[in-house]
Amino acid sequence: MSLTLHGIGASKGIAIGKVHVLNHEDVEITEYCVPKQHLDDEVTRFRNALAIAQEQLRRVRDKTPKNKSVDIAAFIEVHLMMLDDSMLTIAPIELIRTHQCNAEWALKTQCSSIVQVFEQMDDPYLSARKNDIEQVVARVQRILRGFIQSPAEMGEEYFNHAIVLAEDLSPADTVLMQHYGILGFATEYGGATSHTAILARSLGIPAIVGLRRARSYIRPDDIIIIDGSQHVVIVEPNEPILNYYRQRQRDEKRQRAALGKFRTAPVVTRDGTPITLQVNIEFPEDMDAVKRVGGEGIGLYRTEFLFMNRDPPPTEEEHLDAYLQVLRALKGGPVTIRTLDLGADKQIDSKRPEKPVASNPALGLRAIRLCLKEPKLFKPQLRAILRASAHGQVRLLIPMVSGLQELVQVRKMVAEVQTELNQKAIPFNPQMPFGIMVEVPAMAICVDLFAPYVDFFSIGTNDLIQYTLALDRIDNTVNYLYDPLHPAVLRLIKISIEAANHANKSISMCGEMASDSRYIRLLLGLGLRSFSVHPEAFLEAKKIINNTDLTGLAPLATQVVKTCSPGEISRLVETINA
Ligand code: PEP
Ligand code: MG
Repeated sequence: MSLTLHGIGASKGIAIGKVHVLNHEDVEITEYCVPKQHLDDEVTRFRNALAIAQEQLRRVRDKTPKNKSVDIAAFIEVHLMMLDDSMLTIAPIELIRTHQCNAEWALKTQCSSIVQVFEQMDDPYLSARKNDIEQVVARVQRILRGFIQSPAEMGEEYFNHAIVLAEDLSPADTVLMQHYGILGFATEYGGATSHTAILARSLGIPAIVGLRRARSYIRPDDIIIIDGSQHVVIVEPNEPILNYYRQRQRDEKRQRAALGKFRTAPVVTRDGTPITLQVNIEFPEDMDAVKRVGGEGIGLYRTEFLFMNRDPPPTEEEHLDAYLQVLRALKGGPVTIRTLDLGADKQIDSKRPEKPVASNPALGLRAIRLCLKEPKLFKPQLRAILRASAHGQVRLLIPMVSGLQELVQVRKMVAEVQTELNQKAIPFNPQMPFGIMVEVPAMAICVDLFAPYVDFFSIGTNDLIQYTLALDRIDNTVNYLYDPLHPAVLRLIKISIEAANHANKSISMCGEMASDSRYIRLLLGLGLRSFSVHPEAFLEAKKIINNTDLTGLAPLATQVVKTCSPGEISRLVETINA
């Protein structure tokens, strides 16, 4: 019998396929005594686990696409080297024999000793290697205990055409699985504007998040349907349901094809007002999708994804290479490169946090705060962005700025990098536009005060909503409060637009609200004239803009910000969209 489960639709579209369940539980490792006559078997069990781990990693490495900016292969190579080192191949066997203990316990004991040594190292690069050791050991432990866990461990064949069900997924895992060809995913946790959800939309993977206790109802190899638009997962559908969804898949494909006629159309409202419509990307490879929809400019390039699934951080040359790929693909179009926004839900790897987890990571050392504290991480990126500016229209965008002090510090660092480049006669554009995100309420309230210090603003509604309404964007228990139409959010957007216009500074919106077809006319009514949306939303957004007459929209939008009744707001938004 089929079963329907309700969650939060993170990414539209329909996926039909077999389920692959990812387990992330950590089970405690206990010690037990191995009788003397079984010690050889225990050693063999341990050696076999090492061999399987090596084999798994080699398989993943060999199947990793070589042309991807995410350097997965190098990351795997480090782990392979560790699996060949005597600290893991010999020492645990000596422990098994001398203590007559099980392989898991011997490995755990040896891992603790190695980690202790690494922790005492002063060199931050070397001390960070302890995370690699832990990951390698975790892999062997899982094999010893018969568990299957991370995408990197499983490799492409497990994911190709699978639907993944997991407790939660990191952005890093999502990227890997997209490379491996998953059809869709569902997670028990997460919200609609978590970065994993944003990635799913951007990559066009149907996804449901916040599907509570899903793993109690769905088993590996079940056939399920993910319906991202209706926020449901259907488990073991019968034939009529399957036929209905196959038909809907065909209809959606047709609708997408019909939007193709807007690909080359100019972006202009019915009354003749030109609107800027650009695209958000996470990887240089996204430029294929940008080209497909006819995008001519990048309004947000989230560069933090360059840092994921790899170690050490990207070099200046790797940054530059990625930016030049984007510039070349744009053939002269503008690209807004946002400096890295790591922290909160964008850890480099979910299982390998860079720092001890703060109690409120979204309010902690994130984005520009992290960059200013870690110039070694930030400066190579700044240098690369400046160098890229000599090759095309590059704009620099700084995330999560909340006060003047940060702005002054970033400006100072940019000036230092410019001096260094000048000394080496390396070309850059000294006039490269400098912009900041409006995603902390403090900034939205003070756009007028900050305007003299910047060339442009970009509104990040994902964080602006999170911080204005005091709710964690990845916490599905408070997700019901996440409301782009909350009057406080709309008022902050309105005053930001008005203040930027007044100061003659351009202002755009690159948060997910701009990609949501329900809000585009309202935003136009609030005065927004520049949008940056993910590739999948681009043609739909263009269609809406081109079918909109601005006359009469502003008074309706003003009425929306003057009411706090959700019913009245919905009615007004319906009128605006009618
Ligand atoms: C935003 O906060 O709206 C935004 C665009 O940035 P990110 O989603 O990467 O935090
Ligand atoms: Mg943000």
